[in-house]
Amino acid sequence: MASVVEYSDRAIICRDMDGFITSWNPSAERIFGYSAEEAEGKHMSLIMPEECVEEEENYIQRIKKGKAVFKYESIRKRKDGSRIFTSHIIAPVKNAEDKIIGTSKIVGDISDEHAVYAAIVNTSDDAICSKTLDGFITTWNFGAEKMFGYKKTEVLGKHINLIVPDAKIKEEISIRQKIRAGKRIPPFETVRVRKDGSKVNISLTVSPIYNQSGKLTGASIIAKDINERKQIEAQQILYTEKLEELNRYRDDFIAMASHELKTPLTVIKLNLQILEETMRRDENLSFVKSSGKQINKLTSLIAHLLDVSRIQAGEVKLDYQTFDFKILLKEVAENLQSSNTANRIQLKGIKKDLTLFADRERIEHLMTNLVSNALKYSPDSGKIVIKSSIENGQLQVMVKDEGIGLPEKELEKIFERFYRVNGIPSTYSGSGVGLFICWEIVRWHGGKIWAESELGKWSKFYFNIPVGQPG
Ligand code: ADP
Repeated sequence: MASVVEYSDRAIICRDMDGFITSWNPSAERIFGYSAEEAEGKHMSLIMPEECVEEEENYIQRIKKGKAVFKYESIRKRKDGSRIFTSHIIAPVKNAEDKIIGTSKIVGDISDEHAVYAAIVNTSDDAICSKTLDGFITTWNFGAEKMFGYKKTEVLGKHINLIVPDAKIKEEISIRQKIRAGKRIPPFETVRVRKDGSKVNISLTVSPIYNQSGKLTGASIIAKDINERKQIEAQQILYTEKLEELNRYRDDFIAMASHELKTPLTVIKLNLQILEETMRRDENLSFVKSSGKQINKLTSLIAHLLDVSRIQAGEVKLDYQTFDFKILLKEVAENLQSSNTANRIQLKGIKKDLTLFADRERIEHLMTNLVSNALKYSPDSGKIVIKSSIENGQLQVMVKDEGIGLPEKELEKIFERFYRVNGIPSTYSGSGVGLFICWEIVRWHGGKIWAESELGKWSKFYFNIPVGQPG
């Protein structure tokens, strides 16, 4: 037993109940610098810093009350006056009558371990500091110096309110109250003030600190600088607001312009119709007819733009009714075929009637858009096939053409507002809103629309919507 004490790398120290050292091993000499002759018979205060006396007394009381053995960490001083961090295992020493006559202690030097923690704290970019329960600063790392601009020497012993802006004093009081109640305050965003008076946005975590005897002594504070993130967020909000404003201007402009264009166009269209009637055999009739075609294009463009602005303004109301989709399809096909002789429109699929409960006008609009596109983007004569079927209560429609097709990477984008395929020749006039409107119409009806294509060969546009049931 004696040799274990002699060769242990830990200090093994015994003391009596009055605190006088009764035994001191070679490691105690190595760690604290006092020889056994110098230490034995002396009071423990030889190696005990003043601030640890009360704490040590608590432990002795616990031993007296019968606690067999326990561990704690503390601070001790060496012969040369320097301090070391120590780990302690303490146990009572009893006499033959089982009476406690002192304590024995195994003491380890854990300064290296503490040095590692200290290095972590000191190299952290976060401000890490501590304060007493009343809010007086007790530690202040390098991160805190950088974040708040105060040197450690300037703040130790000062009140934490030094960095709390007036508007946050109440917050700080409530933090202290929570800490006194032993509660940890999870990270929250707040503001503190630097030495130069500027504000810093931080994410703050405050936790209670307990000493070795389990007594609540203060709070640890970890503050992360979130200024940059806040600035980016603020900028993003600004951009979004600006963008929304610009979008509003544009939408208002489109709505106004389309509305104002509609009336004169209707008048011109009527006049052209009258002219056409009166010029049946006139050689200039072709000019009138060509003007009529251009006017029709303009009218449909304006109708599209008005639709878009209504969609943007959320002013769309669906007018549900029961109708035969087959008839609607025939009408659309005949109507578009009459003005296009190059391509042949073929209807496939459903032979019998197909009752749909939907907004007829919108579905007609949807079909017209898809078939017009199929015609427009098929410059060489080809077949346009419209195939419809019913599956699981869903109407499924496919419009296939043998036209110019489009690259796969464009397939999703073409349904976006004002989007036209990159590099599309200017001979294909358009506004890029037709498919956007199709997308919206299908969405309003609770369906899905998508496209497939092979560049230079064909395109297929699909959609499905529920057949629907009245009421
Ligand atoms: P646009 O008025 O330009 O035709 P759309 O919204 O109807 O606007 O179509 C968006 C884009 O999708 C078109 O500009 C065109 O590039 C492409 N597109 C649409 N339909 C077809 C099709 N059937 N074949 C090839 N490309 C098409």
